[in-house]
Formats: sequence, C-alpha cells, structure tokens
Amino acid sequence: MSPCPTCLGQDPRASFDRVGPAGPVEAAIPPNTVGRVRPSYRVLRERRGARASLDTVADDLKAALPHAPSARCMNPECSEVCEWPQGGGRPARFHDRACQERFQLVQRRLVNEQEDILSALARAPRPSRSERIFLENQLARRRWLLERYPDPLHRL
Ligand SMILES: [Zn+2]
Repeated sequence: MSPCPTCLGQDPRASFDRVGPAGPVEAAIPPNTVGRVRPSYRVLRERRGARASLDTVADDLKAALPHAPSARCMNPECSEVCEWPQGGGRPARFHDRACQERFQLVQRRLVNEQEDILSALARAPRPSRSERIFLENQLARRRWLLERYPDPLHRL
C-alpha cells in the first residue's frame, strides 16, 4: 500500500517531537534534522505566535513539511495519479482524456437523474408513500455519488 499523499506516511506527532524551540525558521529546524521530518506549516505558524507578520508566511511554507507532489486522478473510478507540474503550466486534473470524458459523462448523468427525481417528488398529485421512499433513496444515492464528482466550476 502506498503512503498517504498528505502526510507521506509520517506520524504527525513526530513533527512535535523532533523540532527545536519557537523562533525563526532557521532556529525551528535544527541542522541535524534536515532531510528528515519537517514540522507542519501550522506548527511553524503557532511557534511564531498569534502576531506573526505575514512576510514570514513564504519562509514557513518553504520550511514546512511539503504537500504531496501528486494526487489521484479526479475520476473516482481511476487509481492513476497526476503529478504537479514542477516546471509550471496547468496542473492536470485527470491522468488522461478518457478519464475526463468518463467523469463528465457520469457527472452529467447523475445531475440529470437527480433533477428528474426532484421533479417527480414535487409533482402533483404527490407520489405514493412507497414511491416517495424509493425516489428519496435513489436521490440520496445520487447525492452520495455526486460528492465524488465535484462541479469544476465550483472549484476553490
Ligand atoms: Zn484517470
């Protein structure tokens, strides 16, 4: 099994155990720990205290435990990974074109079915109790699946 891409398999408690006292970044990372466990960004910020100036954010980001350089392909059915483009350029969300097309197809299908189910639930005369229970179950299932198919227009 591959390590967690966020923590890279490191025990988060280790970042509290292996770093030095509070202070500038250089002091927070003893030379003998370079290349070993780095503190998290949050730990570095907490060490600086609540009044830390924003011109230290970049330094702390450079010194902190880096995030994974790769992430899973956005197609929930795929286990391939996408690499962060180190040399710049637009980062890939899908490992290949077929995955992007599959993602969009399934997402569209789920959204369309969800809209039909909502319309059927709201119709007059109202559906029977057993039909309503069935439709609500089907709606919940599509919402559950759609959590894996976020709308690219609503990205952060
Ligand atoms: Zn893929």
